[in-house]
Amino acid sequence: MPKTCCAVGCQNHNMMLKSLSFHKFPKDQERFNLWLTALKRDRPDGTPWIPTKNSVVCNAHFISGKPSSDQTHPDYVPTLFNYNTNVSSKKQQQQKTSEAC
Ligand SMILES: [Zn+2]
Repeated sequence: MPKTCCAVGCQNHNMMLKSLSFHKFPKDQERFNLWLTALKRDRPDGTPWIPTKNSVVCNAHFISGKPSSDQTHPDYVPTLFNYNTNVSSKKQQQQKTSEAC
């Protein structure tokens, strides 16, 4: 079954590049919440998104390329995201709409 990264703005999936690795959400509740906060992902209807057992984050979101179990390490939580991708595409859509009008 193909795994797709659940990060906002990330289209990476395991059928694409063999160099990618995918990481499940941590079992530790506190760290799990940190990951969830870092992802800043909401459903289209505005309700909070809850990861499933199959939700994974790809290694593109970790500075060193993989998560660390060391709390003092920056890769304890994924930090590299492309939130702006969605914002800019929305702006472009709005511009297109106004041009059409
Ligand atoms: Zn990703």
